[in-house]
Amino acid sequence: MKLSNMYQEVILDHYKSPRGKGLREPFTGQSHQVNPTCGDEITVRVKLSEDKNIIEDISYEGVGCSISQAAMSILFEQVLGKNVSEFDEISKEFLAMMQSKGIYEPNEDLLGDGIAMIGVAQYPARIKCALLSWMGVKDAIIRSKGENK
Ligand code: ZN
Repeated sequence: MKLSNMYQEVILDHYKSPRGKGLREPFTGQSHQVNPTCGDEITVRVKLSEDKNIIEDISYEGVGCSISQAAMSILFEQVLGKNVSEFDEISKEFLAMMQSKGIYEPNEDLLGDGIAMIGVAQYPARIKCALLSWMGVKDAIIRSKGENK
């Protein structure tokens, strides 16, 4: 893959020094996501506030390629402490970028280091790697909301 050097460094940095890694308690919802084509696996826990609005913690464990693991770390950094509607907005922007085939001007305020993934959008086989953690957090939020009536 030919990613720009700067973006490649951002991804490698998150891969080597993942932010917030490890599964923590308490949590309100957990999700396990597998990307069989690449061998990526992620278990993610979300802790929502009492009113189910604020994402108070995201914790995770995972194995797999640098894209999948870096994406999880980037997501953690970008989404922690935000509310659920902000998460939806950020994840929509990330999805739009990943489906753009790399021709996109991503909103850096929303995506933060996530913009480093834009080069990955040119490689259809790797898009799922980048999206795996986003699907996991989304699922964990849905499970969090479903737990209490
Ligand atoms: Zn992968």
